[in-house]
Amino acid sequence: MQLKVQTVIDILEKLAPKSLALEWDNVGLQLGSPTGNVNKIYVALEITEAALNEAIEAGANFIATHHPFLFKPLKAVRTDEMRGRIIQQALNAGLHIYAAHTNLDLADGGVNDALAARIGLQETEILQPAGEEKLEKIVVFVPRGYEDKVLSAMAAAGAGWIGKYSHCSFQAPGTGTFLPQEGAKPFLGEIGQLEKAEEVRLETIMPAELRKGVVQAMLESHPYEEVAYDIYPLLNNGRPYGLGRLGRLPAPVTLAEFCRRIKKSLDIPFVRAAGDAGKTVKKVAVCGGAGSDLIKSAIFAGADVLVTGDLKYHEAQEASNGGLAVVDAGHDATERIIVPVLCEYLRKQLQLSGYQTEVVASTIETNIWRVY
Ligand SMILES: [Zn+2]
Repeated sequence: MQLKVQTVIDILEKLAPKSLALEWDNVGLQLGSPTGNVNKIYVALEITEAALNEAIEAGANFIATHHPFLFKPLKAVRTDEMRGRIIQQALNAGLHIYAAHTNLDLADGGVNDALAARIGLQETEILQPAGEEKLEKIVVFVPRGYEDKVLSAMAAAGAGWIGKYSHCSFQAPGTGTFLPQEGAKPFLGEIGQLEKAEEVRLETIMPAELRKGVVQAMLESHPYEEVAYDIYPLLNNGRPYGLGRLGRLPAPVTLAEFCRRIKKSLDIPFVRAAGDAGKTVKKVAVCGGAGSDLIKSAIFAGADVLVTGDLKYHEAQEASNGGLAVVDAGHDATERIIVPVLCEYLRKQLQLSGYQTEVVASTIETNIWRVY
């Protein structure tokens, strides 16, 4: 079975729905076509010429990144400039380039969860809630004997999840009626005769975001020519999403020791920190990339320290004044930890869908800062 670009996009957006992206962001397929074929996937923090060359040399033709390659609008595609050269080279090589940026920051299992896990935080929760997933109920009437097939198809498309349980549904038997009209090709019954069929009312829950894929999977697996189904909006609370994470260390440590551990877990040579070296650290806030906007939330949540990147002098000062230590571990180091997580996620999901497509992680160094 040939893997299509759209299938990879669907898998990525199951993890990081596009609707989670912040308003100013630019996420999704940025170059290529959803109808293209995918031979191999390359995952990187961002596209640079070095990353592009590595992807092409590896034989990959789908590149998934965190940072959008096209962020500020391009007014010209000039091949004497980096972005123009990348576009030219990517189009020549038949590549498809996709970005999951702030949607992957906010997503459950995204950048910030990966960062919290890497640091070893426990009891992780969202630092600054931004909303929650909208849920819907889908009810479909299935001829008896086909309920498992239709449920499996909908479940594979992301319906039927309640907490850690998948394939959740309710099934009630009943009688369906229909009268096939001229031109119909009924699965059961005959033209012009009222048919009464033993059917199952199959109902399950789904994130509104996945409606299109679930309905399509349901229709494709259903034997009827015309399928009767209903979709209801629900007021149930869906999975929350938000910026940053807050968690606890298994045991308190000093800020100095905490910084040593951060360097080790993120595999970086140095961090910048503001705070007393002997300060006890237990409650930790994290935000991958540039997280100074979360200083107030971290203070409010009672965090001992905020781990992020791109901090400015006055921001570190604002944190100190609020009793919050800050550790600037670098923009890239606090985000590139998503690369292996995304690779693993893609491999697992592709395998579940019956694809053997290879997924490789970028090995290009992203850290730009050196200490002299
Ligand atoms: Zn970033």
